[in-house]
Amino acid sequence: MLSGPFLDKNFIGSTENFNEADIVMLGMPYDGTCTNRSGTRFAPQAIRSESVGIEVYSPTFDKNLDDVCFYDAGDLEFPFGNTKKVLEIIEKNVNDIYMSAKKVLGIGGEHLVTLPEIKAILPHYNNIALVHLDAHTDLRKDYLGETLTHSGVVRQIADLIGFENIVQAGIRSGERDEWKLMQEHNTLIYEPGELSRLKDKNVFLTIDLDVLDPSLMSGVGTPEAGGITYKELMSWIAALKEYNIIGADIVELAPDYDISKKSTATACTLIREVLMIL
Ligand code: MN
Ligand code: MN
Repeated sequence: MLSGPFLDKNFIGSTENFNEADIVMLGMPYDGTCTNRSGTRFAPQAIRSESVGIEVYSPTFDKNLDDVCFYDAGDLEFPFGNTKKVLEIIEKNVNDIYMSAKKVLGIGGEHLVTLPEIKAILPHYNNIALVHLDAHTDLRKDYLGETLTHSGVVRQIADLIGFENIVQAGIRSGERDEWKLMQEHNTLIYEPGELSRLKDKNVFLTIDLDVLDPSLMSGVGTPEAGGITYKELMSWIAALKEYNIIGADIVELAPDYDISKKSTATACTLIREVLMIL
């Protein structure tokens, strides 16, 4: 037995005991359908190694990461070039997490990974709603004929849970048809107070990191000008603390586009805060 200590690959503050954990952090290094620049597959490992640089204490929630009992499962291994198979692997593993009465914190990878997460959770909860924070509508019917892409993931989820159970914030990019869909179903909200329509719902929170302004989050594959600040993002997270959050994911970090690594460091701090509301 080696005596260490090791700088291991687990996210800072995680427990090594799966059974005692309430939350399972699951790396999903998939970027097979990215419509612009790929590279999100490198995010989970970059996040883990960068995580040693953040404090385990959250002043916002007055809690330490070790008060939150979460297990870092590591990264799923995916076959290249087979999106359906990738989605099946995610769905099966997320189902395992909920069969064990735990919650998932998914780390992308691209945004399509949210679809199999929701599919896996559906049999375990009634009354599921999605809170979608993103620069992009992600409501495309298809992209060059493909329906399963990161730019259509919320449309796919709407088919499962209904548009009435979706709210979107931070959105500033999409096709005219997608904006019409948002207007028709009144999914776009502007203030955390408007989340009140989700009282009594079981909420899954999905955060596409390009919701943040590219000046502070340049490490994404599809940067979009005019984004929100980290403080604004935190006002959404703090408000969501009052809701029943049954799972979450943080997706679309493409660490190699930001050589300063501030995007990865920001993702780590955000992950800490999301763990506090799960
Ligand atoms: Mn996006
Ligand atoms: Mn997205």
